[in-house]
Amino acid sequence: MSAAPQHAAPLDVQAVRKDFPILSDSFHGKPLVYFDTAASSQKPQVVIDALVDFYSHGYANIHRGLYALSVGATRSFEEARDKVRGFLNAADEREIVFVRNATEAINLVAMSWGRQEVGAGDEIVISAMEHHANIVPWQQLCAEKGAVLRVTPVDDRGELELDAYESLLSDRTKLVAITHVSNALGTINPAKQLVESAHAKGIPVLLDGAQAVPHMSVDVRDLDCDFYVFSGHKLFAPSGIGALYGKLGVLETMPPFMTGGEMIESVTFEKTTFKAPPGRFEAGTPDIAGAIGLGVAIDYLQELGMDAIAAWEHELLAYATARFEEIPGLRIIGTAREKAGVLSFVLDCAHPHDVATILDQEGVAVRAGHHCAQPIMDRFDVPATTRASLSLYNTREEVDVLVAAIGKVTELFG
Ligand code: PMP
Repeated sequence: MSAAPQHAAPLDVQAVRKDFPILSDSFHGKPLVYFDTAASSQKPQVVIDALVDFYSHGYANIHRGLYALSVGATRSFEEARDKVRGFLNAADEREIVFVRNATEAINLVAMSWGRQEVGAGDEIVISAMEHHANIVPWQQLCAEKGAVLRVTPVDDRGELELDAYESLLSDRTKLVAITHVSNALGTINPAKQLVESAHAKGIPVLLDGAQAVPHMSVDVRDLDCDFYVFSGHKLFAPSGIGALYGKLGVLETMPPFMTGGEMIESVTFEKTTFKAPPGRFEAGTPDIAGAIGLGVAIDYLQELGMDAIAAWEHELLAYATARFEEIPGLRIIGTAREKAGVLSFVLDCAHPHDVATILDQEGVAVRAGHHCAQPIMDRFDVPATTRASLSLYNTREEVDVLVAAIGKVTELFG
């Protein structure tokens, strides 16, 4: 994937850690070791400051006001849109729709594009490793339209079975909706290849980038996907803001998702006309501060360099994987050759919830459960896993704390 302009310098993790005030906090008398970034990331001071500044001195509603404060807020909001455009290397800022999160972005596509384009007997291809957010909206659409959901299987490593994917694509396929990076396994899917195969048969592709954008540079023009979605809260930005990228030509064909204020051109009791994208899809007052915070988070990441972030996380994942492999009775779920910093595991001796509870006593925050991806848990025949997700602010020393804490679990239960 080609990258936005990046600094070549390697990541200075200790400097990065100082940017995140919460990382100096303690829980249960132990320093916080935060390994739950795949659920939501912590926020750097620059993002927190941007929110405080905006609410202290910049706040007004946008797009309507004629006074300086509102004009300034509108400018900041639209600048944030342009930052998202640059971050994804989209061609045009009209291709960026602000939404609440990845879930809303997928629902928007399902309810707007999907209801218009999908009919009885049509098929939508997803994969066995999808988050519920990229299953349920398509399942609902299929139920409504009499369409069929087809599922690309996943092998024992947690990689997509590409031959099976190819054979699922047919003239009945109306859309491929697949995750770029799996939240439960860490698998990085060959997104560009998936898009190429689908496009060869004239099928548009939505990529769920919720777990990709925090870890690697993403270029939607290089990927050539038709839709790309992500959530700000996993990208070091506030919760409540996310983005949908859609090719302009496609967005222009789509009806509104929600209606009301902001998204109209003119309203009479007889007839309403709608704005062009992206305004057509942004009904009501948006999360203005959230969008501005997202723009600042993007600046922060670009300053560090997405390639430097990816390189550090890769190194840390290799270290953590090697340490995990030394632990008797531990099985890593998801061993794809291309992986982002997710370590899902099960222990012979203890349930994932017990593991997470004991780790918490050691100050280590991990996630336990099905990770909103129940079908992939079924595929691996586990009810749940414990998941440690790595990020730009995690260190080898923290991995050692995690491994020692897992040692306590095995002592207690083993
Ligand atoms: N897709 C993936 C791959 C995810 O990991 C998540 C969040 N865990 C989502 C979609 C949904 O994100 P959100 O809850 O922010 O809408």
